[in-house]
Amino acid sequence: MKKSIVTLCLLLAGLCPVAAQILVETEAFADKGGWVADHQAFDKIRSAYLMAHGLGRPVADAATTVPVAEAGTYHVYASTYNWTSPWYKGKGPGAFQVVVDGTPLPAELGTTGSGWEWQYAGAVRLAKGDVRLALHDLTGFNGRCDALYLSREQTPPPADYARMEEVRRQLLGQGTPHVAPKADLVVVGGGIAGCATALTAARYGLKVVLVDNLPWLGGNNALGVRASGLMYKNLYPELGNITCQVTGVQLAAKNDPAAYQVDPTGFGDVRYAHYEQQLNSPVQDARGSDMLNSIERLEARGETSANRQEQNLKQQEYLRRNAALKREALLREAGVEIYHDIQIFEVVKEGTLIASVKGKSLKSGEEYIFAGGLFADCTGDGTVGYLAGADWRMGRESRDVAQEPSAPEVADQKKMGSTMQWYAFPRADAGSFPRPEELPWAIRVDKEYHINRSSWAWWWETGLEIDNATEAELVRDNFLRAVFGNWAYLKHHNPQYAGYRLDYLQHIAMKRESRRLLGDVILDETDILERVKFPDASFTTTWTMDLHYAKPENAKRYPGWEWVTYCTHYKPLAKVDRYDVPYRVLYSRNVDNLFIGGRCMSVTHQALGTVRVQMTLGMAGEVTGMAAKICKEQGVLPRGVYEKHLDDLKKLMKKGAPLK
Ligand SMILES: Cc1cc2nc3c(=O)[nH]c(=O)nc-3n(C[C@H](O)[C@H](O)[C@H](O)COP(=O)(O)OP(=O)(O)OC[C@H]3O[C@@H](n4cnc5c(N)ncnc54)[C@H](O)[C@@H]3O)c2cc1C
Repeated sequence: MKKSIVTLCLLLAGLCPVAAQILVETEAFADKGGWVADHQAFDKIRSAYLMAHGLGRPVADAATTVPVAEAGTYHVYASTYNWTSPWYKGKGPGAFQVVVDGTPLPAELGTTGSGWEWQYAGAVRLAKGDVRLALHDLTGFNGRCDALYLSREQTPPPADYARMEEVRRQLLGQGTPHVAPKADLVVVGGGIAGCATALTAARYGLKVVLVDNLPWLGGNNALGVRASGLMYKNLYPELGNITCQVTGVQLAAKNDPAAYQVDPTGFGDVRYAHYEQQLNSPVQDARGSDMLNSIERLEARGETSANRQEQNLKQQEYLRRNAALKREALLREAGVEIYHDIQIFEVVKEGTLIASVKGKSLKSGEEYIFAGGLFADCTGDGTVGYLAGADWRMGRESRDVAQEPSAPEVADQKKMGSTMQWYAFPRADAGSFPRPEELPWAIRVDKEYHINRSSWAWWWETGLEIDNATEAELVRDNFLRAVFGNWAYLKHHNPQYAGYRLDYLQHIAMKRESRRLLGDVILDETDILERVKFPDASFTTTWTMDLHYAKPENAKRYPGWEWVTYCTHYKPLAKVDRYDVPYRVLYSRNVDNLFIGGRCMSVTHQALGTVRVQMTLGMAGEVTGMAAKICKEQGVLPRGVYEKHLDDLKKLMKKGAPLK
């Protein structure tokens, strides 16, 4: 049923007064105007929300029409968050108003408080019939609104968002969750790891469901990260067939060293020429993305420039969107049932097995249940494993855990962070941008310390000491502060940028590291350095130990909120050339039907530095798909593949997954 608006008499548990109430989820607004939908506060509010991501210019109103069954005076509340409150105690920048049938309600919302909460917008007299509700942005600086609540009584909904869950369900008239037919394998997370896992298993005839919380398949890849890793060094040369298909790399390139550009220290990428060329064209799809939306908006106004970097950005975005479309078509063709825009947030277990996972649509709020015999956690955050009670770690292990030479003496929470691409380009009408003093909530830079460039680079990175899984919104918001603070400084202190305008900035962060789930083997740096040969050696890793840490000067100036990093590119692999990773890192050691894929596989922080590139993770996904086939056919669980059917797995890896 569509998440729209239902007016009903709500009998809250323990509260008897009955009143007409209307709840409107903003992400379900018919017209989103210039607002963008965001799910990064899901762990806090159990919902997506709309955000006025205007890069300092107010965005067009988002609006929708709702039916009112009972005429009368209504009190209007907005669920919102003063997003700069973790850093700044004054008035926040995310100001917006609620507009009812063209008339703005008096209160300016989103500028006070210190957490998600219901703020009072004002009272309005409504006639029976349709009413038009709109969100009117006042600043372009990321004001946000999760839902509107209209009530005949001046009482806000529950302040506790966990309790609000039930109220939402009732007010939105949502019944029991949709139940998807039971699958052999439920893959959660549609990054390259999840796609490769799902496609491989489906090609073997398994009934596969793939659930992802983004509109496009590909995870980081779809958000802008190219795939790296050398496949011609594989222990099993036929691994990588599926990875080529889901990344858009020509199959002929896989085992051809000349198709790669290789750094002198040995790591490398497939050259662009070896990607499917037909992908370099405009995209025909309504789903949009921050970059695509910006390109289209600028082109409509005749404002994109011939600047080579901007043209390149455009090409890259077309490539990514088209690759994602092709990826999706391939998976569907193989029979994978794909569910987009669904956040998995609950797990039901039977003993040590997962019976089902529950998700919520980020568009409609409806709930879905996915039952299966096997599950693969490819969320990057290890969310399914975490919810299922799987053993996990986050941050750096201490040296005594695995005698890793690069590990610190004492364990800590240092990890790689998250980032979003941003670009400013020269424009005929460059406009102004607030002065640094007008953005007291933004990161402060000065003459001695600022970043003198008009575009993103990989080392703009935040969340180095923060939990990127549960605090994704905070990590992203810190990034916004860094971009806006630095740009305000450049615009007003460096004449070179006076004619530039900040036009591109993503709002969903690309993540590098969150939880790592633990398997029967936890691969570590020592295994790699000492070339430990495991009997279940499977996919091959070739990247360096590429780990990122805050630059010392940045860490000194912004402790806890660092935003500039360097990478180690420590190269123990130079000595060993490549390393063949054991299968046992690919399943949980204590949740028996859970495969763990992608960047949440069972490795230490140090070892994550090498396995985390996408060709490698794709090939790991192929191994998982093969193991799932054995599980189904032999009636065993993932550990049973190692204990009883390792030869079968080796045969499959030798042969390679079917290309059709
Ligand atoms: C800026 C940057 C640069 C990088 N550079 C390179 C590079 O040059 N080459 C390279 O190969 N790698 C690079 N990496 C690393 C690489 O991008 C990641 O390690 C890799 O993409 C991880 O793939 P994955 O499939 O495990 O996870 P992801 O790509 O993170 O995919 C996980 C998917 O699961 C979804 N998801 C998460 N939680 C849930 C949930 N609860 N319910 C439903 N869906 C969920 C996510 O939205 C996402 O779609 C880079 C990473 C970053 C951030």
